[in-house]
Amino acid sequence: MATPAGNHPLPSYLDPNHLGPWGVYLQQVDRVTPYLGSLARWVETLKRPKRALIVDVPIEMDNGTIAHFEGYRVQHNLSRGPGKGGVRFHQDVTLSEVMALSAWMSIKNAAVNVPYGGAKGGIRVDPKKLTRSELERLTRRYTSEIGIIIGPSNDIPAPDVNTNAQIMAWMMDTYSMNVGATATGVVTGKPVDLGGSLGRVEATGRGVFTVGCEAARLTGMTIAGARVAVQGFGNVGGTAGKLFAEAGAKVVAVQDHTGSIHNAKGLDVPALLAHVQQTGGVGGFAGADVMGNDEFWGVACDIMIPAALESQITQDNAGRIQAKMVIEGANGPTTPEADDILNDKGVLVVPDVIANAGGVTVSYFEWVQDFSSFFWTEDEINARLVRIMKEAFAGVWQVAQENKVSLRTATFIVACKRMLHAREMRGLYP
Ligand code: GLU
Repeated sequence: MATPAGNHPLPSYLDPNHLGPWGVYLQQVDRVTPYLGSLARWVETLKRPKRALIVDVPIEMDNGTIAHFEGYRVQHNLSRGPGKGGVRFHQDVTLSEVMALSAWMSIKNAAVNVPYGGAKGGIRVDPKKLTRSELERLTRRYTSEIGIIIGPSNDIPAPDVNTNAQIMAWMMDTYSMNVGATATGVVTGKPVDLGGSLGRVEATGRGVFTVGCEAARLTGMTIAGARVAVQGFGNVGGTAGKLFAEAGAKVVAVQDHTGSIHNAKGLDVPALLAHVQQTGGVGGFAGADVMGNDEFWGVACDIMIPAALESQITQDNAGRIQAKMVIEGANGPTTPEADDILNDKGVLVVPDVIANAGGVTVSYFEWVQDFSSFFWTEDEINARLVRIMKEAFAGVWQVAQENKVSLRTATFIVACKRMLHAREMRGLYP
């Protein structure tokens, strides 16, 4: 019998045994497929990015040499709206990592029902090794190279690991210079004076805190006095830690790229944030004991917040986690094997695709404000953010109860149904 067209052996990136975050994502989709009913017919759509661009980013270094960096922008799915997702500058960025991150954006945006598809970008670079002017040239050349697929109605980048409001300002300016008009809506996470939104910087951490409180309420845990461990004390982990501490929780352990610190009585979070601001990391903080990086995972705590990079909670450390709840501030911090270990132990995992959706939710508010040139107060923004996060979490919680599945699978059920329903209604062209 003839092989149907399109059924040739899969390229490695479509193989669920593919190593790394993209393989993790494919396994997550496989887990949800039995719950998609007749929409499962379209599920292949989710297993391959709609569009992936690799760009060469050459820049002149301050010493006069020319350096080449590899950049990416992947638009995973555009069924529900323009692409949306951050840009990451990190020495370990690869195309398949950006593919996974773009896919998780599709799921996240559908889970909180903002009218976007999913996209992500990145440059394989250690930005800490660049001077400010090299970083600016890198950002501008990258923006120009991906300029053929981004735009306020096409695909809207935002900050992610190692990128910030200044980088968004350079991206907005470069895109605007190329099109000949100021296009504030081409990126979100901009400085407030350039069309940015109040509350955007804190939004991801605030969303983590909001769903954490909801999960605690539904499982009978009290936040006041709860012991919290946080991995990553940057924008997401630092804000979440601050909000939990303000609500009376004790942040007992923090880990970042400079080491792991511990204080069973609770760290002085404002002092720790000031130390990180000054020194670039938690290492050397006076009010704490040093602990081993691997020991961190077994620390006595009630809530664990991984808020750094992917694949941190694995089959090697999941069994040692003492927390009753894991709230994923990072994208993809838990591998499927670790997910199973945590579920079997009765640890509640609030997955990234709902827990860290606060950032893109306020990015959506920023984009709407830019289009209407009418800006909201911080109170309005925070109130709308909390409402969206609570509603989305309640919906996911209900689906998890009804189907007796994890919150991750429940979030994927809600999101994949929205995306594939849109796909089905639009139909295939031609
Ligand atoms: N980088 C963030 C994320 O992973 C925010 C993306 C955005 O605001 O578009 O969700």
